[in-house]
Amino acid sequence: MWVRVPPSALGDEGRIHPPPAIHRFGSVKHILLVNPWIYDFTAYDFWLKPLGLLQIGAIVRQYTGCQIHFIDCLDRFHPGLKKSYPSKPDGRGPLPKEEVDKPEVLKFVPRRFSRYGLPLDVFKEELARVPTPEAVLVTCNLTYWYPGVQLVCELVRQRFGQVPIILGGIYPTLLPEHARRHSGADIIIIGPGENQILSWLRTILGDRLVQERKFEELDDLPLPAYDLLRNTETLPIITSRGCPFRCSYCASSLLFPGFEQKRPQQVIADIQILTTELNCQNLAFYDDALLIGSRLHFKPILKGLIDRSFRLSLYSPNGLHVQAIDEELAQLMKAAGFKSLYLSQESLDPVWLKEYSPKVSPENLKEALYYLEMAGFDRQQLNVYLLVGLPGQDWEQIKKDVQEIFSSGLKPRLAYFSPISGTREWEKIVEAGILQKDSDPLLQNKIAFLYKQGEEVISRLREVEKILKEEGRRD
Ligand code: SF4
Repeated sequence: MWVRVPPSALGDEGRIHPPPAIHRFGSVKHILLVNPWIYDFTAYDFWLKPLGLLQIGAIVRQYTGCQIHFIDCLDRFHPGLKKSYPSKPDGRGPLPKEEVDKPEVLKFVPRRFSRYGLPLDVFKEELARVPTPEAVLVTCNLTYWYPGVQLVCELVRQRFGQVPIILGGIYPTLLPEHARRHSGADIIIIGPGENQILSWLRTILGDRLVQERKFEELDDLPLPAYDLLRNTETLPIITSRGCPFRCSYCASSLLFPGFEQKRPQQVIADIQILTTELNCQNLAFYDDALLIGSRLHFKPILKGLIDRSFRLSLYSPNGLHVQAIDEELAQLMKAAGFKSLYLSQESLDPVWLKEYSPKVSPENLKEALYYLEMAGFDRQQLNVYLLVGLPGQDWEQIKKDVQEIFSSGLKPRLAYFSPISGTREWEKIVEAGILQKDSDPLLQNKIAFLYKQGEEVISRLREVEKILKEEGRRD
C-alpha cells in the first residue's frame, strides 16, 4: 500500500527512486504519498500496511516523471520515536499513541480516545523535508478514521498552501459525499484507484509528464512500492480482489463488486522479489476470499512457494473461508509456512449463519479442524473469529460459542461488528433508528457502536470478555 520521506532526511538515496527517463524534459516534479493517523479507542499493527497506497505509488512512479515521497504516519520503526515499539516474531506490534480529546459525538463512550501513529512534531519534520509536491495522495482505510485525513490535509495546507490533495481508499469509496465535504481533500477517488489516478495527475501535471495506461486486470499492475516502507521484514500481499459471497454486514462487494484473482505464477514471482530483494520474512495475505477456487489459485501458489523453499511465515489476518479448507489445502498451507490461521467462522449457530453469513456452517469448522490437525497444525495455532455486536444478537449464544471454541482447544477471537454504510445491516440499523443515514461516520466505530446500543449490551459483552480472560489464563 508506496515512497518514503526518508527519516534521516533525504540523504538516504536508496529509498528515493531516481526519476524515470521522462524527466529529461524538465525539472523534477514531486508527488507526496501520506498514510494518515488512526483516531480510535484502540488500534494495533495487526499486519497493518497501506497496500492500496503503495500500489498507487508504484503506478505513479512508473508512469509519471515524478519523484515520489512517502510519509507513513503509522511507521512504528521511525527513528524519531522516543521509545521503541518492538514487533512480535510474526511482525505484529503496538503503535505509538497520544491521547486526544474525544470528538463531541463520541463523548458518551467512557473510553480513552487516541491518535495512533507518529507524534505531530515528527510528522511536521518529515513534511518540512519534502520539496513542494505537485500533488499529495492520501488514503483512508476505515470510514471512522477520517479525522486522520483531516489532520493530514490541514498540515499539508499549512506547509504547501493550495497543493491538490487526492484522497482514495475505503472511506471515500463508501462515503464520497462526506469525504468531499469534510475531509479537506480536493479530489475524491471512489473505488479502485489504478485506472483513475493517472488521469487526475494528467489534469494536474499535463500530458507530457504522465503516460496513459489502462490496467485491465490485476496481473497488469506493477509490484506495489514496498520499498517505500522503512521495515520490509513483514509485508502484505493481495492475490485477489472482491468476494463472491454477500454477508449482510460486509462491505466487500461495495468496495469491489466482482471477484478477480491474479495468476498464480505472477503471485509467486512477486513473492520471490519480496523475499530476495526486500528480505521479507512474514507475509500477510490481505485477500477477502483467499481460498475460493483454490484448485486453480491458492493451491498452485502454495505449491510454487514450497518448490522454491522460501523461508517465509505466512498469515491470513482477514480470515479464511472455513468451508474451503480440504485435506490437500490444509497440507499445503502447513508445508508452505502458515504459522497461525484466522478462520472466519463468525458463529456456531446455524440459523444465525444462514441469515447473516451463509458462507459457512458449524459442520464446516469440524471438517476443517480435522484436515488442519491431520496436516500438523496445533489447535492453539487456530484462531476462530466470532462476530459480536450486531443489534439484537443473542449474547447467550455468543457465550456458548466462546466456551465451545475454548473446549475444542481453539482460540476464539471476537470480531466486533462495525455498522458500514451501504450494507444490509446498515439499512436495518437506520430503520431501527439506532443511527441516521447522515450520522457522523465516527459512530461507525465498532467500540462506539457497542456503547450506542446501551448498558445491557456492554454488560453482556463484559460477561463474554470475562470468559475469554478466565479461559485464556488456562492456556
Ligand atoms: S465471506 Fe467474508 S469477505 Fe465475503 S462477503 Fe462474507 S464477510 Fe465479506
